[in-house]
Amino acid sequence: MSEPQSLTRRVTCRYLRRNGEQCTGEAVDSTADVLLCIKHMARVVEHARATYERLKKEATR
Ligand SMILES: [Zn+2]
Repeated sequence: MSEPQSLTRRVTCRYLRRNGEQCTGEAVDSTADVLLCIKHMARVVEHARATYERLKKEATR
């Protein structure tokens, strides 16, 4: 019985602040392509939704 490495290894959020500092939060899913903590994951989702709505509006003008 061997556990995958990804379950035991701590992976930090890849978000970079404007001053170049990396976020020290823990990634929600260390096995995913997107490595973000819950706070930045939420921020990205909000931003993606807003951008999508804006582009959709522009496209139907
Ligand atoms: Zn973060």
